[in-house]
Amino acid sequence: MPTQNRRIAQIAAAIGIVALQLAAACTEPTGAIPFPDDAIEVAPGAPYARWWTMTQSCAGHARPMGQVHFYVVPRLSIDDGATRYAGYWYRDGNRVVLAQPYATDGAVVRHEMLHALLQRGDHQRVDFVDHCGGIVDFGDGLHEERAELLTPPGPSSPVLSPSQFKIELVLAPQPIALTAPDSGWLSATVIVTNPRDEPVWARIEHADNDSIGPTLGVTVDGLSTRVTRTRYSVDTLVAFGPREVKRQVLDIKLDAPLTRWRARALFNADTGSWAPVPVQR
Ligand SMILES: [Zn+2]
Repeated sequence: MPTQNRRIAQIAAAIGIVALQLAAACTEPTGAIPFPDDAIEVAPGAPYARWWTMTQSCAGHARPMGQVHFYVVPRLSIDDGATRYAGYWYRDGNRVVLAQPYATDGAVVRHEMLHALLQRGDHQRVDFVDHCGGIVDFGDGLHEERAELLTPPGPSSPVLSPSQFKIELVLAPQPIALTAPDSGWLSATVIVTNPRDEPVWARIEHADNDSIGPTLGVTVDGLSTRVTRTRYSVDTLVAFGPREVKRQVLDIKLDAPLTRWRARALFNADTGSWAPVPVQR
């Protein structure tokens, strides 16, 4: 069993009209990266306790977060000369190292937290897709990841339009405190459920001439800021197992106290209505 894991930093997350997420591809290590000399230990910041709880909840494993030591390197990536990583978990010392830009990227942090919770450096699909898909960063960013435990659809399975799925938006915590303990950190999650007891396909429309189409997305909107986290797929049919639930989380720090924030979920062409974000002022 590998003692370390490595991750390719292929994540593009930006604040703006649209943030395109290219999920990181995770591979088994062919060699271990030495612990970086310039790693600085940091106290887990405001959102880490809740991110840890989210990861415990999806993983079905519980451990005290205090057993993990978090470090940041003041660089764009953790680098072994050939591959760039956004984050890295070291079994030795139960240490999580994050490249500076990803220290507040919830999906990357929770990916490393999942390694620390499971105490294993590999990427079992049941953990990273079935249990924690869309909550932890995982995958090549080109396809919706296939579930391990659920029966996939076949050639004769029904093809449903996005509006035939159950689409929910969950905001946590409620309300969000702009000061301690939340410091304004919101996790907005789109949850898409196959309503049927049988495997189905979801038809994913692509805009004209686009090689990719949006699948699950969530947007948080304030007076002058709009942040979107959307997954994209090259496929026009996306597999859902019976009653399968897919998720995508957007983490954002709400730091404008006078702004009225709102959020909405989308699943391809089907966009939900805006919901107010409850803020404790
Ligand atoms: Zn990993």
